Amino acid sequence: MGLIMAAMLQAKPGFSIRLYEKRPTYTRTRMVKLSSYLIADSLSAYSADEVDGDNVAAIFDATELEAGLSNRRSVDPKLLSLIQSWIQGFCALNVIEAGLSALIEDGGPSPVERVLGGVSLDQALAMIAPDDIWIDCTGSNSLLRNQLLPEKVGEPSSAERNTSTIRLEYAVNVTFLYGAPYHCNEYCKYYKNQGNGQYKFIPSVDRIARDAGVTHVFGIITIAAEEFAAMPPQCKGDYLRENFPAVAASMDRFIEQIDQETDGKIISDIDIVRIPLNLYHARNATNREWRAEHADGYPSGGEHPFSRASVFLVGDSAIGSPYFQSISLGFECAMFLANLLQQGIPMPEVFDRYEARIYKQWLRVYMRSKAIKHNKDIFEQLDDTFGVLERLKIY
Ligand SMILES: Cc1cc2nc3c(=O)[nH]c(=O)nc-3n(C[C@H](O)[C@H](O)[C@H](O)COP(=O)(O)OP(=O)(O)OC[C@H]3O[C@@H](n4cnc5c(N)ncnc54)[C@H](O)[C@@H]3O)c2cc1C
Repeated sequence: MGLIMAAMLQAKPGFSIRLYEKRPTYTRTRMVKLSSYLIADSLSAYSADEVDGDNVAAIFDATELEAGLSNRRSVDPKLLSLIQSWIQGFCALNVIEAGLSALIEDGGPSPVERVLGGVSLDQALAMIAPDDIWIDCTGSNSLLRNQLLPEKVGEPSSAERNTSTIRLEYAVNVTFLYGAPYHCNEYCKYYKNQGNGQYKFIPSVDRIARDAGVTHVFGIITIAAEEFAAMPPQCKGDYLRENFPAVAASMDRFIEQIDQETDGKIISDIDIVRIPLNLYHARNATNREWRAEHADGYPSGGEHPFSRASVFLVGDSAIGSPYFQSISLGFECAMFLANLLQQGIPMPEVFDRYEARIYKQWLRVYMRSKAIKHNKDIFEQLDDTFGVLERLKIY
C-alpha cells in the first residue's frame, strides 16, 4: 500500500514524498488474488461480485460510486495496466511490489525519496513535523494505529479503544501450483470433499496471472485452536501428512481427484501456513481526535506531534480481512486518499471524508466476510441436516 500511495501521489505536482521501507528487497513470492472491480469502468461491473454486489449498492451512494469510477479514469494508465495484468489470476506479491517500484522509479511531477530501514514509534514521533502528512502502511502490526487516540484517565487505552478484532476461524492454508488449467465451482468443492469427515478442504482455484496453463490452488482447512497452537507457523505438505494426517487427508483427497480428472500434476512445493483468520479495523483511521484535542488545548502542556500533523492508516494497518479481499480493499482506500490529498481541500474535511469512506469499506468487508464464513460453515455440514440447522438462524 505504501508503494501504490507513493506511485499515485507522485503523479501530480505539489508533494515531496518520502517512502520508508524496512525490507531491502521484496522477497515475498506468496500468490495473491486481486478483485476485478479494481478496474471496473461501470457501476454494474463494479458491483458484479455475487457475494457483495447488493451490499455495495446498499452502503454507497450511486454518486460516490460514480465519483470513484471517474477518479479511476484519471489514474496513470501505466498503473491501471499493471493492475489489469495482476487481476488475470493469482499473482506473486513481489511481482506487484516490483511493478509498483518500477513505476515509482519512472518518476513523476512530485519527487519520491526512498529511505531504507525500519522506523520505530519513537523515531516516527520525533520526526513528525507539524505540517507533515504521515501515511502508515506498515501492515497488520501497524506502527501508529494504537496511537491515534489521546489517552484519557479512567478510560481503556488508546490501543483497546482503537482496534476492534473478530476471530473468524483458525485455518490451515494450503497452496501449490498445478501444471494444467483447472476450475472448481461450488459443485466441485462439494464433490471433492465427499469422504472427508471433520476437515474440509475448501479451495480457491484460478490460473496464475502470467500463465493461463498453470493453476494456483489455495485451500483453506478449518482447524481447532489447540491444533493451531501445536502447528509450526509454516511447513510443507509432507510435514502435515506426518504430523496432522487427518488434516492432510482432506488436502490429498482433493489432489488425487484433480490428478484423475486432468493430465496435470503438482509443479511446486505444497506450502502450508497456519493462520488465525481475523477481521479487524481501526475505529479511527486518522488522528483527527488528536487534532480536536489540540483545538481545546493539549492538557499536559507540551504538544503531541499528532496534534498538528496529519496521520492516515491505509491497507492492513487500517482494516484486515481474510478470503482474498484485503489488497483490493487497500488499493481502493489508497486511491481514494490520494485523490483527496491531491484536491488540496482543507485537512479537517479530508479527515472526515476519509473516515467516512473507510467506515463504509469496513462495513462492506465485514458483511462480505461474515457471509463467506456463514456459507463455509453451512457448506461444511451439507450432508448433516441437523448440523446445518444448528448453524441457521432464520428469525
Ligand atoms: C497466507 C496469506 C494469503 C493472502 N492472500 C491474499 C489474497 O489472495 N488476496 C488479498 O487481497 N490479500 C491476501 N492476503 C493479505 C495481503 O497479503 C495483505 O492484505 C497485504 O499484504 C497488505 O498490504 P499492506 O501494504 O497493507 O501491508 P504489508 O504487505 O504487511 O506491508 C507492510 C510494509 O511495511 C513495511 N514496514 C512495516 N513496519 C515498518 C516500519 N516500522 N518501518 C518501515 N517499514 C515498515 C514492511 O516491510 C512491508 O513492506 C494474504 C495474507 C496471507 C497471510
